Amino acid sequence: MNFLNEMYLKIPAVSVNESFARGTVAAFCVSANPTLEEINDIKTAVSEAVTNCVVHGYRNKNGDIEIRAVLYDAALEIEIKDRGVGIENTQEAMQPFFTTKPEEERSGMGFTVMQAFMDEVDIVSSPGKGTAVRMKKYFAAGEGAESDA
Ligand code: ATP
Ligand code: MG
Repeated sequence: MNFLNEMYLKIPAVSVNESFARGTVAAFCVSANPTLEEINDIKTAVSEAVTNCVVHGYRNKNGDIEIRAVLYDAALEIEIKDRGVGIENTQEAMQPFFTTKPEEERSGMGFTVMQAFMDEVDIVSSPGKGTAVRMKKYFAAGEGAESDA
């Protein structure tokens, strides 16, 4: 796998940044020539992770979201991190339909969606310190991508 690019983005945890983050990450991936489906999978996963930082990590209060990504010709590695409340039990949080906000009409499917659309999803979280979601997506066309595109 050949390295193509890397990025770091720090943005406030506000809902307009859900679309900004997914659009930015999509643009970042273009030089690896992903398929439209791969790009859409990544956008969906990024949206879910950023939304979780806003509504759960910071409970709609002030805070920053940090996004780090590394692009290879055959894959994207991305970390989406908040310094919010953290998650007590990450195994439980990842279960389909598990939500701590049923009253806000959350369905508890965010992590399940991330796992369905990305090839690897890992959560690192400590209560009181915050949460980092690390994901990886492989591109089917892979190594044919141009490194100077
Ligand atoms: P949906 O994503 O379907 O709207 P949801 O956000 O509750 O609902 P998930 O995204 O799967 O579902 O998250 C499951 C649970 O994990 C959340 O209800 C919340 O308790 C916890 N969680 C997720 N992300 C974070 C985060 N960044 N900080 C703190 N808690 C989180
Ligand atoms: Mg969610």
